[in-house]
Amino acid sequence: MQNKKWGLVAPVYILLVLLISAGTVQSNQLYINELLEGNPPPQVLKEGPVVRVVQPNVQKPTPDEGDVEEQGEVEIEVEVEVEVTPEPKPLRKVALTFDDGPDAHYTPRILDILQAEDVLATFFVLGEYVERHPELLKRMFNEGHLIANHSRTHGDLALLTNEEIIALELGPTSQVIENLTGCYPMVMRPPYGSLRQDSVNFLKETGWHIVRWSLDTFDWDSRRNKPEQIINRIQAQHHNGAIILMHCNGPATTAVLPDVIKTLRELGYEFATVTQL
Ligand SMILES: [Zn+2]
Repeated sequence: MQNKKWGLVAPVYILLVLLISAGTVQSNQLYINELLEGNPPPQVLKEGPVVRVVQPNVQKPTPDEGDVEEQGEVEIEVEVEVEVTPEPKPLRKVALTFDDGPDAHYTPRILDILQAEDVLATFFVLGEYVERHPELLKRMFNEGHLIANHSRTHGDLALLTNEEIIALELGPTSQVIENLTGCYPMVMRPPYGSLRQDSVNFLKETGWHIVRWSLDTFDWDSRRNKPEQIINRIQAQHHNGAIILMHCNGPATTAVLPDVIKTLRELGYEFATVTQL
């Protein structure tokens, strides 16, 4: 009877043990799940133990300037105000020159424009006219312009001997200028640009500076001295160090002079006298 009873109980016991064992397994699985939830982020190796992957505490190097892009994930844009010194532009100069004055009517207007525009120029004057308008010569001088010698009578110096050039034309002109200003000009421009080679050599040897021109505005030529023609000529022929030929005794020059100054300034030029180039 006893055996029979045990025979009935045993399967039940075995079943109970199996159930308890199953419960233990289930409990272990729950424990693992809790562990996973409570300690993120673990790495569960496939069919292995739960392990936590510990990142080594590697100190990132301090980024240098220029390494920003290599950092990849963290890009910080920093606006830095850098004061940039502009490259100095090469100084470009031109000289405005006015021949054949002083003239009672147009020279004062030329001087007014130059004064208003704060431009210094060079006046190649005629001795005869200086004698007639000493006050205008003084004004030129007092306003800072360079006064130079253009002969006394505007004759063709190629027809004179070297001694006559000095005695009749250059000497008297520079002398009257010195009487008015205290300065004896040794800068000259021959009328029409006309001078024999032996006279060129002679004047240079005796200390004169001969100045011709490199850009003729043709303001003296009524067939081609409309303002737009003069401006076009300047825009086509301007160059650094240009000596620009104009005159201070006619309406064409006074009409176009403000635009001449504006055009040259827009081209980047500053104004100088012929001895400042
Ligand atoms: Zn002249």
